[in-house]
Amino acid sequence: MSKRLAYPYTDKLLQYSFSKSHPLKPERLRLTYRLSRELGLLDNVEVFEPRLATRVELELFHSPDFITAVESCSTGDCANWRYGLGTPDNPVFPKIYEAACRYVGATVDAMQKILSGAPGAFAISGGLHHAQRSEASGFCIFNDVAIAIEMFRKKHDERVLYFDFDAHHGDGVQNAFYRSQNVLTISIHETGRTLFPGTGRVYENGAGEGKGFAVNIPLLPGAGDRELTRAFDEVVVPLFESFRPSLLVTQLGVDGHYMDPLAHLSYTSQGYETVLRKIKELAHEHCNRGWLAVGGGGYHILNVARLWSLFLAIMIDEEVPRWIPEDFLESASGEDATRCPLTMRDEDEVKQMYLPSDEVAKDLDNVLQRIREEIFPAHDL
Ligand SMILES: [Zn+2]
Repeated sequence: MSKRLAYPYTDKLLQYSFSKSHPLKPERLRLTYRLSRELGLLDNVEVFEPRLATRVELELFHSPDFITAVESCSTGDCANWRYGLGTPDNPVFPKIYEAACRYVGATVDAMQKILSGAPGAFAISGGLHHAQRSEASGFCIFNDVAIAIEMFRKKHDERVLYFDFDAHHGDGVQNAFYRSQNVLTISIHETGRTLFPGTGRVYENGAGEGKGFAVNIPLLPGAGDRELTRAFDEVVVPLFESFRPSLLVTQLGVDGHYMDPLAHLSYTSQGYETVLRKIKELAHEHCNRGWLAVGGGGYHILNVARLWSLFLAIMIDEEVPRWIPEDFLESASGEDATRCPLTMRDEDEVKQMYLPSDEVAKDLDNVLQRIREEIFPAHDL
């Protein structure tokens, strides 16, 4: 039994690569791993090489015909629009099946480590939260998160809280457990009116016995740390404390950061850090099975490397230096030189530049009020 945090990584994960011009750059994983290694953060975690997920594991969530469709695309030249394959978002590429199975393998292996006693895990390649039961969507082929939660639930009939702060709504995971009151899904994201996948409205709040167990907090473009932390304090904290999950799963996509080129939110490292530290406390207090963290979106790759390294440091109680090591920046500068961060955290002047308008705060007032009215009663709050 390992008492160290589990961290699946191998350069083979970089095979999940749609095309040179695709915004999802596999290099972000290698850079994250390298920066974390350089900062000494991997010295006290259990880094291991993940295996490929099996078909039986994929079938915990996905339909057999969809899995077969992905498998048959592995030559890299087929398109199957019915399954969301071969679209501009999800172009097929050689060995797509193997690459997608390795992503799932990393997350389910991380879950296995937790089931065997590891206190937590961080699978930076995971978090493919848009994939649906029979459809690839939004750069996501297989939904590693839904599969890992199903795996846990098969072994332990216990409550799981899934929290997702990626800029995009965590629709695939929400839909996977939409009728369950044992898996509470909470997503804070940019409103679907301005961002893919267009869902994640407050009224999507579960069905059947799962009514009140799907929670969505949409934010207007421009929303920043103040909105993120407020939504967390006023919704996630009380629900966490009343739901008392034995396992926490978090999707830590960082495309809500102000530097990210795809979304329109303006979080900084401070907002993320505040939320992460609170998550850690809540997990410590309630989740006797542990905390599985996965990655997710993030399209400014140096920024992804720095934020996920910062998140890892918080998870394992390590400090990070003020400055990103120069060697690292130099060797990575060819990757993405624009608006290159130099410090591990965003410093105060940045925060002032991205203050959102009053309209953003007022809209959040309304969203929070509706959640209190429509969700909280299902939790005796
Ligand atoms: Zn995203």
